This record gives sequence, structure tokens and C-alpha cells, in this order.
Amino acid sequence: MSDKIALRMGRRRFLNFVGAALTLSVTPVGLAAGRNPTLLAVRVWPADEYTRVTLELDANVRFTHFTLENPDRLVVDIEGIEFNKALEGLSDKVAANDPYIKLLRAGRYKPDVVRLVMELKTRIVPQVFTLQPVGEYAHRLVLDVYPDTPVDPLLALLQQQSHSDYPLASEEIGIDDPDKTADKPTDKTTEKTNTAKPAETHIKTPATPAAKSAGKVNRLITITLDPGHGGEDPGAVGRGGNREKTVTLAIARRLKSKLERDPNVRVALTRDGDFFVPLGTRVQKARRVQSDLFVSIHADAWIKPEARGSSVFVLSEKGASSSAARWLAQKENDADLVGGVNINVKDPFLARTLLDLSQTVTKSDSLRLAKSVLGELGGVNRLHKSDVEQAGFAVLKAPDIPSILVETAFISNPEEERKLADENYQNQLAEAISRGIMRYLAQNPPPAKSPMA
Ligand SMILES: [Zn+2]
Repeated sequence: MSDKIALRMGRRRFLNFVGAALTLSVTPVGLAAGRNPTLLAVRVWPADEYTRVTLELDANVRFTHFTLENPDRLVVDIEGIEFNKALEGLSDKVAANDPYIKLLRAGRYKPDVVRLVMELKTRIVPQVFTLQPVGEYAHRLVLDVYPDTPVDPLLALLQQQSHSDYPLASEEIGIDDPDKTADKPTDKTTEKTNTAKPAETHIKTPATPAAKSAGKVNRLITITLDPGHGGEDPGAVGRGGNREKTVTLAIARRLKSKLERDPNVRVALTRDGDFFVPLGTRVQKARRVQSDLFVSIHADAWIKPEARGSSVFVLSEKGASSSAARWLAQKENDADLVGGVNINVKDPFLARTLLDLSQTVTKSDSLRLAKSVLGELGGVNRLHKSDVEQAGFAVLKAPDIPSILVETAFISNPEEERKLADENYQNQLAEAISRGIMRYLAQNPPPAKSPMA
């Protein structure tokens, strides 16, 4: 329901009206209604991982696509759409620094066909697919442009690390074949062993009992932070127009820098920009970098503006701790529908992962981590519920990584929305979550990474 708070009601009514009219006309592409499908909006979401171009239309359309070489191009032919201003303005939507797209243009190719030509900066793997109306969106035709060598999260993390003083290099942990290592738990344990070594050499003074009791982390810890939503999926939107996806990224970036004050902690972000990442991909990214912890950052929303406070959730696959928690998990899981996942093709940089590992240890660790973070959040904000809550959040389903989801505050509450958008308050939230994580790590030192682990 919270997402509905955010809807631009006027437009939504308009779209519903159009949808109803099309239903009555009972045509596959809206042609026989005597009116061609109209392009409503074009959105481009550039990112290193992939660039997405979304065409939003008031009806379903037929399309074909193919690629050309020398120079590399993606061509999409769309049947029966009006050539309107939105199409004319297509080329302005592409930023000069887009990683993949050089130019996007459209022209009438045949009387009944509009041809989109995407000139590319590099060889790409395209995914072109449609999405049915959901939330505030009408029909969408999606053009995803992936590099033909997918971005590897582990390599990206190591490259980021190489800017710091860590003596880590990609060859030290053998990531030559990403698919091979991502597939098999045995490869994973090998990697874990190897990643531990550089961290040990980094620590100049050996961990003493005193250092341990002071909560010093004595091996390299990898934490994945997951800024909720992104790209096509704004998450909840406050009355003041602040979007959850913006707030979550800002807080996650602040949290990352706070956690990395400890030289034994390195942090990966599931997204470091405004683009959509499917929920399953977020989990896979955390596993790919051998995360010790996974923390998903969100901002809550409710129909009534009075709802307020911070909460922390862990996964429950046997029912939620409350109906509100169940509802919230469902809403967060709908991110894939809003953000737009191509159901015909698996995410191209994902390898299928075995998920039959035991979750017993992970669950109790998740709960301890959640309690620690909730306790610290209580110092900077009122708590929405005094206890950790549980529900079936898809993003918390890594079987081998303690995972929590933090609803920092209610973006649907005008006062909390203002605070969420405020840099100082974002820092306070990040500081509290950071303290909670570090306290958990001090009290529950992760086991040494060994082949027997
Ligand atoms: Zn959310």
C-alpha cells in the first residue's frame, strides 16, 4: 500500500482509464481500436553492469530486434506506434558518459514500423523484453544492454580495494574463471582460505587476548551492503517527493565509509548507482564476494502518515512475526515486478548457485546481528517495534551469510522523511548501524576461514 501513497494519482487514473479502454477494445496491439499505441516516456539507466532503456507505452506492442557489427548496433523495430515528441527526444536521453550507448535514435522505417537504432561503444549482449503494467507503470518495452564480458562483483571489489592499502591482488585468490568459482561451494572454501592470508599479513601486531576482548576484528571481514530498490524501482516515495532508492543509497555509502574505518573490514555494495538490481542478484553478489554479513537498507512506508520508527528484520520461511511484517516482505519482494526482471532469461552474469546448504547457524547469527543493530538504532530513533521481526524477504535468502534488513525510518511519515533526506541524520543512522555491526562482530568473531569451515 505504501507504494500507492507515492503514486501520482492523476496519472494513475489516466493510465487506468486507458487500460480499461484497451480491455474493451480486445485487440492484441491496440491497432484495431483505430489508435496506435503511444509512447508515454523514455528512461535510460546507465551503469557499469548494464544500461537499461525503458520505453513506457499505453498499450502492448509487437517488436523485433537484432544486432549489427562494424559499428556495433542494436536495432529494435516496433510495430504501429505513433512517432511523437517522446521518440523525437530519444537521443537527448543518453548521457555522453554512458558506458555502452553512444547514440540512440528513432525513425519511421516502414509506414507501420518505427526503427530504434542504438549505436554502441562496445560489443554487447542485448536483452529486449516487455513488462506488463504494475504499480504506477503502464506497459514497458525494456532494452537491456550488457557487456559481453559481465562485470564480476569480486573483481570489482578487489579493484576498489587496490586503491586502499590492502595487499590484495586478483591473482592471489584465483578469480580467473568467475563462473567456475561461483558455481561450487568447494571453490568457495578454497577462495576463503586464500583471502584470509593478505589480511593476516596486514595486521602488524598479533591479536592478543586483550585486543580480542576489546572487540578487535582479527581477520579480513567482507560485508555486503544492499541499498534497496534503484533504477525503475523507486521504492516508497514520501509526500515530499523523496524516494526510498535515493535515501537507501546515501545511507549505504555513508555506512560503507564508517565500516571501512576498521582496516580489517571491506565493504561491497550491491549497487553503487541508480540502476535496478534483481533481488536474487543481490544475494548472488554477496555470495560471490564471500561476504561474512549482508545488510539490506530500506525505508519503511505505511498508508497512515503517523507510522514511524526504525525496525530490523530477519528471514523467516515459516511465516511472519506479524501481519504487518508479512505485508512489508511482500511489498519489498514486489521490487522485481516494479524494477523489471526478464523472466525469459537468467541474469547473464549469474551462475546458478547451490542453495541447499544448512541455514541453522546463519539464522541464529542473523538474529544476533539484527538485535545488535536494532539496539543501536534505538539510540538515534524511536523503534517501530522493540523486537527483531521476521518475514519471508527474498533478499535475505543467502543460506550461508547472516543477513538482516533494516527499515531505517518511515519515509511516509513527513517528519521522518525530512530526517531521512538530511545528511546529518543519514550519518547518525549509518553510525548506529555501523556500531551495531561492529559490536556483533566483536561479540561473535567470525570463524577463521579454513578449508574445514
Ligand atoms: Zn524498500
